[in-house]
This record gives sequence, C-alpha cells and structure tokens, in this order.
Amino acid sequence: MRFSTEYKYMAPRQICTRCVMDSSVPQIKFDASGECNYCKLHDALSNDNPNDERGKEILKQIAEKLKKEGKGKKYDVVVGVSGGTDSTYLLHLCIELGLRPLAVHLDNGWNTETSVANLRNVLEALDIDLYTYVINWDEFRDILLSQLKSGLPWADAPTDIAIVSTLYRTAIKFDVPNIFVGNNFRTEGKQPTLWTYTDGRLISYIQKKFGTKKIETFPNQTIWDVLYFTLIKRVKMVRPFYYIQFNKKHAKKLISEKYGWKDYGGHHHENIFTRYIIGVWLNQKFGIDKRKVTLSAYIRNGEISRQDALKDLQQAPYQPKLMQSDHEYVAKKLGISLSEFNTIWANNNKTFRDYPSYYPFYEKVRWIANKILSRLLPFKPMMTYNIDK
Ligand SMILES: [Zn+2]
Repeated sequence: MRFSTEYKYMAPRQICTRCVMDSSVPQIKFDASGECNYCKLHDALSNDNPNDERGKEILKQIAEKLKKEGKGKKYDVVVGVSGGTDSTYLLHLCIELGLRPLAVHLDNGWNTETSVANLRNVLEALDIDLYTYVINWDEFRDILLSQLKSGLPWADAPTDIAIVSTLYRTAIKFDVPNIFVGNNFRTEGKQPTLWTYTDGRLISYIQKKFGTKKIETFPNQTIWDVLYFTLIKRVKMVRPFYYIQFNKKHAKKLISEKYGWKDYGGHHHENIFTRYIIGVWLNQKFGIDKRKVTLSAYIRNGEISRQDALKDLQQAPYQPKLMQSDHEYVAKKLGISLSEFNTIWANNNKTFRDYPSYYPFYEKVRWIANKILSRLLPFKPMMTYNIDK
C-alpha cells in the first residue's frame, strides 16, 4: 500500500467564505454571499442553545433536576469517558455542579495504555467511580472486519453505537435515569450524513452479509432498544457542553493543573483504530477529509483563523510513515494478512444508502419522528435540523 501526502483531491470549485467546508462536502449549499448551510446550521443551533448567562441558568436547572432525581441513589448521572480532553472536562463540570457522577468507559480493545492510565489518575484525583464495559473482542473483531469489507466509509461506526448503547444500559443497570455526553456542535461541527451515518439496523445487516459470527454480546442499538431505553426506562441524555463556553486549550490547561491529566497528542489519538479510520481509511481510500468539519467548527467558535485552517488542510493528516505502520498494526490486530487487507481495501466504495438501514424509514416519517424525538429528548437533536433536504 502506498500512502500519499499530496493534496490529491480535486481542487474544490467553491469554499465557504466563512468556514473551510467546500463543494466536495456532501449536501453542501452556498447562499448568495457564499456562506454554507453548515454555517447556517451552527447559527441555528447556537440560537437554540445559548452558552451565555442563559446557558448557565439552563445548566443550573438541569443540575437541580438531576439531584432531585438522584435522591436516595448512589449516583446522579452517568458520564461517558474516554480519557480525552472533552470527557475529562465533563467530569470536572459535574463536580462543579455538585453532581455525583458514575464514569462509564467502553473498552473496545483499541485504547492505548497511556490513555487508560490517564483516565484512572484523573478519576482517582476526582474520587469518581468507574464502570468499564469490556467488549467481547472475538465478536467485535469480526464486526469491524465486516464494516471494512462492506466498503462503507465510517468503519468505526460499531464503536459509536456501542458507546451510546453501553451508556443507556449502564444507566439502567445502576438505576440512574440521566446521562451526560460530551457532544458539542460548537467544537465538533456537523458530520455530513454520507460520511458517518450509522444505525443498529445497518450494523446488523452488514454483519449478516459480511461477517463470520453472529451478533450475540455486542451492545447494538435497534429501534426497539431505543424505545426501551427512552420510553419504558425513561433514561434521558443531556449535552452540557451546549450551554457553556468551552475552549479546548483552556480546558486542557485546567484539567492538567487540577487533576494531573496528560496531553498525549491529537484528538482521538487515545484510540488507534479511530485515528486510522479518520487519517488513513477515510482520507486515502475515500478522499474524505474530516478535518474540514473540525477546523470549520473551530473557525466559527473563534479558536482558529480561516487562513490558518486553509493552511493546515494543505498538510497530510499525518505522515505516510505513520500511516503505513498504523495500516500494518490494524491488519495484525484484526488477524488478517496485509494482502487480505489490500483486497478489502480494493473493494468498491459504498455509502449507507447501498444497504438497508433505518434512514429511509426515518425520512418518510421525519415530521412525526421529529415531534416525538423533541418530546423524548431534553434538547432538539441535530438530525431534526434537516440539513440534508
Ligand atoms: Zn461555512
């Protein structure tokens, strides 16, 4: 396999005048002034989720409610943690709000030892309990291979699903009806649906078609699971970052000084598979550069200038040597030879629309689903903003 640092993608015909999303991004539209619909989505989300004094008040009210619901229980809230900046800061926020969190970590077999050690140190400093769910590696390995064989871009989708599902399952197991998650549209932006869409049905189908094992213990999330978690068990998911002014640099400084957290490098570098999928698989096989989404978010959030972001994009996401060694590491860990991996790599590129998923159903019932979702969830979910129309 040869990896290239060249900026090999077609020169985009148009780049948003405010961020760095360009005409190669699916479903992008520009208005008369050259501003894109992803920027407009950011403005709509900002408007609906203020992070000024009003945001502070909203968060205070949420904390009061959680404390009330947590009375007589051991914990007020379940918090998903990875050892990265965002989730560590989320724990700090819990303590500031006077909440008693239970930290939940998914061990999917790819976390680096340093990131796990980091996580343990911080939890000890904060005196927070940790619940780790260890995924069945044999089954998960087969599920990841199926994703790669399917030719879908976002091969890390099973981890995303497993994290959310594990948070719900743990909340139910410990009888804690509230979950804090670290999503933050201001620093993450919106992923184009065609790049990263996934759901429980898609995962099941891909595994049946390409896998050699049945899904038995993997914490998948079918529509029935979602209904059970939210309607029957009434577990609620909250996104505290929507209501605060969050700056990555400041957050890193604070958690290092206060809790001895250590910075081991770039975003997602606590997980090698995620790093590989973003930096090599998406980038070199699909020509997808997810940095456009993140950098655009940073620009809108005032953390970087548009000019610096454009300069960053001219560089490869990481060096070809590291791409090569990650490629070999992933093959070895998944138990396939390099030539087998190269055969998988040569499969046609697909999108989620090439396989059965819940998406077509959701599209049909969008108006009613949005109504139901906004009653079930304490926030307006991003998919209801309808950027794909
Ligand atoms: Zn834009």
